[in-house]
Amino acid sequence: MIYIRENGEIKPVYELDYYSVCPQCGEEVNVTDEYLDGELPDVWGTSVYCPRCSAAFAEKRDFIISNIGQAVKRMSNEELTIVKDLTADNI
Ligand SMILES: [Zn+2]
Repeated sequence: MIYIRENGEIKPVYELDYYSVCPQCGEEVNVTDEYLDGELPDVWGTSVYCPRCSAAFAEKRDFIISNIGQAVKRMSNEELTIVKDLTADNI
């Protein structure tokens, strides 16, 4: 067991509260087991979006998924090439 000592008291690391800062808005987020899925995170490389930003991203994603088919049908080959180039680095 890995633990910390706080005021002489031993606390297992899995009983600690973890926090992160939302990379979108800067709000502090209490990172609960719901986010961590029972595993300790990469403490330097993990960012957690706050519930408000997560909901906003999900709404935008759902809108794009619902409308991408119709949008692509209306695009010219040149526009499709631009979109392909823009998204290639992000996939
Ligand atoms: Zn946020």
